[in-house]
Amino acid sequence: MITDPAIQTGFDVLSVRQQFPILNREVKGKPLVYLDNAATSQKPQVVIDALVDYYTRFNANIHRGIHTLAEEATAAYEATRDKTRDFIGASAREEIIFTRGTTEGINLVAYAWGRQNIKAGDEVIVSAMEHHSNIVPWQVLCEEKNAVLRVIPIDDNGELIFEEFTKLLNEKTKLVSVVHASNSLGTINPVKKIIEAAHKAGALVMIDGAQSSVHLNIDVRELDCDFFAFSAHKLYGPTGVGVLYGKKHILDSMNVFQGGGEMIREVCFEKTTFNDLPYKYEAGTPNIADVIAFGAALDFIDSIGKDLVRQHEEELLHYATNRLGEIPGLHIVGKAAKKVSLVSFRVENVHPQDLGILLDNRGIAVRTGHHCTQPVMDRFGIPGTTRASFAMYNTKEEIDALIAGLEKAIKVLA
Ligand code: PLP
Repeated sequence: MITDPAIQTGFDVLSVRQQFPILNREVKGKPLVYLDNAATSQKPQVVIDALVDYYTRFNANIHRGIHTLAEEATAAYEATRDKTRDFIGASAREEIIFTRGTTEGINLVAYAWGRQNIKAGDEVIVSAMEHHSNIVPWQVLCEEKNAVLRVIPIDDNGELIFEEFTKLLNEKTKLVSVVHASNSLGTINPVKKIIEAAHKAGALVMIDGAQSSVHLNIDVRELDCDFFAFSAHKLYGPTGVGVLYGKKHILDSMNVFQGGGEMIREVCFEKTTFNDLPYKYEAGTPNIADVIAFGAALDFIDSIGKDLVRQHEEELLHYATNRLGEIPGLHIVGKAAKKVSLVSFRVENVHPQDLGILLDNRGIAVRTGHHCTQPVMDRFGIPGTTRASFAMYNTKEEIDALIAGLEKAIKVLA
């Protein structure tokens, strides 16, 4: 019997699962229970088919060709740009830059905008719950420019301390770059409030949307963020593709990032002029196949319905939080009032890595360690956590399997 109440509201998790071929496989002789979705999600058949279709029928370099294959490839690539614009509510397709992922999007801004706009004594603000991708590029920039990196502290529940943030804002603050949803705590940050306060202080705001883009509805115009970066592979799309959104007038005014083909208008040895947006930031042959397949992922998400998925994932989060709470000696790390569907936890006297290995022996994939957020682990005084993160295809039965696996593993290890 299917016990998932989301099904009663029109969300059919079993039919969703059927669209992900990998979910049929076994690991160590057990059905795969994939709970590592915050690292990367699995891909539906339509995304896999889009990749095969591109290479089978219309593989060609884009933009410059006049032959049929080049035109078809260009049309499909550019169609993903329009779908992405709609997906995040951007005003113009020129504001959508394809990158390799969130990391590259943040580095692009730190390099192209940062090197032009940050000077000695300026301040950049990040939070204590950032992924390393949203720390290191700013650290490098600040060191190079003799600028100062400030950090918004977090409380014991893993929530940003908003008053501390407002205290950090001043006339030297040039940029605030914060994560929308934490990959190690699950916390959903009040980014609209953060953006409003930063703008009042005269600073721009970059949002790391790596985790939020898959779980929350994103409207960059409503948020009024200046930059927003995310990765296709966390959105049921392929690896190697990401998106940087930037407000058009800011992207227009910025220096270039990488130089090469496609990003130029004219090149001569005396002077090079640059292409219009978005091509100014897409030097070289891009990841054509994967951008096209990302378009298929966006269509797929649309066809399922993000609101239904959200409801299903909230059910899973609630269920997992309650069931994990029943295990003696298990402590959830990250108890924010608003969370995306992931749970990080530690178990007294048990190393997360040992737990991960024993769970893998039962076909259960979780992530263990610092999750590229070492400052979060330092804040809580722990070496790492075990993290179960949920996607649209996960079920309560899989959470039951996780709990059973944990109980067995803890008996062996504790
Ligand atoms: N930011 C957050 C919050 C993430 O969770 C991740 C990946 O886990 C990243 C940034 C980096 O994303 P990518 O490795 O796709 O560039």
